[in-house]
Amino acid sequence: MPAKASIAPSVQDHLKQLIREVPDFPKPGINFYDITTLLKDKDGFRETVDALQEHYRKTPIDVVVGIEARGYFFAPAMARALGAGFVPVRKPKKLPCLVKSVDYELEYGTDQLEIHADSIDPGQNVLIIDDVLATGGTASAVAKLVRMLDGRVAGLGFVIELAFLHGRRKLDGYDVFSLIQY
Ligand code: AMP
Repeated sequence: MPAKASIAPSVQDHLKQLIREVPDFPKPGINFYDITTLLKDKDGFRETVDALQEHYRKTPIDVVVGIEARGYFFAPAMARALGAGFVPVRKPKKLPCLVKSVDYELEYGTDQLEIHADSIDPGQNVLIIDDVLATGGTASAVAKLVRMLDGRVAGLGFVIELAFLHGRRKLDGYDVFSLIQY
């Protein structure tokens, strides 16, 4: 399925202008999309949250889940905009109470993500937000965590989608939306 683009091309162009591409970071061969330059721009940040919110305007959302760390820049703003709660998914051993954990594959080895076991009620509609959809491994692990708590994944939203990595294939069956694609 091709990457979705339902926002005005002029807004997409503006957001692209605000995102800084950093070659060979954090290691050679990786082109890093630095969103700090977008976050500090008052119009760019507003346009980003507004355009994401617009996509979910007619979708009932109870909880927005943000993925550590850069998902936290957008998920709480989205929760506020949608009138939902915010739940953080964190790296291991950061959350103080009972957690559910999931392992997921990295380029080399595996990693873990955790969510508080009482953070989502069964049947709640959950929107998952992160800055970048790359291979889709992280987002599909978070969707698994939400399902472990019997939450309903109402959508996965990203500011940036690296379409050439086909991360959507790992998120088959979900509503996957991104504002800008490379
Ligand atoms: P993935 O699990 O491969 O979809 O990777 C997604 C996570 O890695 C996101 O949380 C992003 O913050 C980060 N990420 C992956 N690739 C990039 C990139 N080229 N530029 C910026 N962040 C990236």
